Amino acid sequence: MRYISTRGKVKPVGFIDAFMMGLGDDGGLLVPEQIPAVSQETLKEWQKLSYQELVLAIFDLYTNGEIPNKDLRELVLASYSTFRHDEVTPVRRIRDDLYLLELFHGPTFAFKDIALQLMGQLYAYVANKDGRSIHILGATSGDTGASAIEGVRGKKGIKICILHPNGKVSKVQELQMTTVQDDNVLNLSVNGNFDDCQGIIKELFGDLAFKSANQLAAVNSINIVRILAQTVYYFYAYFQAAKASGQWKPVHFSVPTGNFGDIFAGYLAKRMGLPVDKLILATNENNILERFIHEGVYMPGDFRATYSPSMDIQVASNFERYLYYVLDEDSEAIDKLMKAFKSEGEISISPESLAKVQSEFMAHGVFGKECLNTISDYQAKYGYLLDPHSACGVAAVDKHAADGGITISLATAHPAKFNEAIVLCGIQQNYPPEIEALFEKPQRQKLVDGKLEDVAKELVQFYNA
Ligand SMILES: *Cc1c(COP(=O)(O)O)cnc(C)c1O
Repeated sequence: MRYISTRGKVKPVGFIDAFMMGLGDDGGLLVPEQIPAVSQETLKEWQKLSYQELVLAIFDLYTNGEIPNKDLRELVLASYSTFRHDEVTPVRRIRDDLYLLELFHGPTFAFKDIALQLMGQLYAYVANKDGRSIHILGATSGDTGASAIEGVRGKKGIKICILHPNGKVSKVQELQMTTVQDDNVLNLSVNGNFDDCQGIIKELFGDLAFKSANQLAAVNSINIVRILAQTVYYFYAYFQAAKASGQWKPVHFSVPTGNFGDIFAGYLAKRMGLPVDKLILATNENNILERFIHEGVYMPGDFRATYSPSMDIQVASNFERYLYYVLDEDSEAIDKLMKAFKSEGEISISPESLAKVQSEFMAHGVFGKECLNTISDYQAKYGYLLDPHSACGVAAVDKHAADGGITISLATAHPAKFNEAIVLCGIQQNYPPEIEALFEKPQRQKLVDGKLEDVAKELVQFYNA
């Protein structure tokens, strides 16, 4: 398998090169040259696999044997040994028509751990094998930062710098990032919002001289490996729900969405051959993607702070990957559209393309009150405490999926990470001991202005120290 850019100006590269490139050198996003087709037969085989075995089977389609099987197996086993649940991503039945895919059993209690534990192992593998230094740079709305830091803290040959929007992440998210004492970690708290942070790192990754001089590597979902790792649990969840219900029909997936990374992984799984009916895209008040799916116009609105801060994103970096497939892999058209987006601030697609989008996706923007009501309702009715992101996913199911089919809704974080919303529902929760312990630890972070030059200066100093 080789990887190409949505904008068509990157020479096809292999798996490790794609992993290390992160953002495409032409400013586009890397995608597989061809989406591998998984046969019915193979799907039958895969039903029997453990989570870890399934990771290996799926990665086998994407890695071209660039990492010897024995090594890859070790990396995968190490990645998921840090999870608190044997099944890694267990599926729970809520009702006949609703299953929850619990993605928060990793070290930082959010779904980002699933890809970032593996990427941490892969970075360490590459650093070790090639004796090179790797300098990870990422932006976070809260969860990616904590997960990425946890994935590489203390690892030889790797330094990591994470930008987060000052005061716009939850208390637990901030503590998870800033209480890490390893010297290979730098937290920059940026005056601005997530879109500002993501904008800065996209600029820096786009500056190829800066990128290569500083050996930059990406952990955000601009990195295709993160997407590939996230396709695994769509397959796994489908098999578990089908076994539990006895029905092997197509299911809907509902996905709390910010950067469009997770739901794009679901789209990729569908294109590979997983029986997926609709992908339900749940947003909060930052509902640019909901509006796109309903109207075919992609136009950022005003940034709003919400109960689900990890989804407080207007400009979704993975949207370009999906758009590429909507436009039948026409990279010239994408290049033009993204340039126009930069200058004019909006993208609109044709009625035919919109019809295609609507045959694959449904969307619902879940605003504050609906989010809190969903948390309260599910606690009262099912004794299940949802975090505010997962609640958006479930609220979108209740709004849309009344056709008798089964929906698997992604539970993307543990409620303890977002107690700010839980207390507003009048619910008192006990923290897991790992989270309780954070409140005792000293914090390390540096406040910076939201200017590119300031961030670049900090980075050069940190990476070269
Ligand atoms: C990151 C995150 C999301 C959004 O995922 P995207 O891949 O950015 O769409 C949803 N919920 C939680 C808890 C997250 O951390």
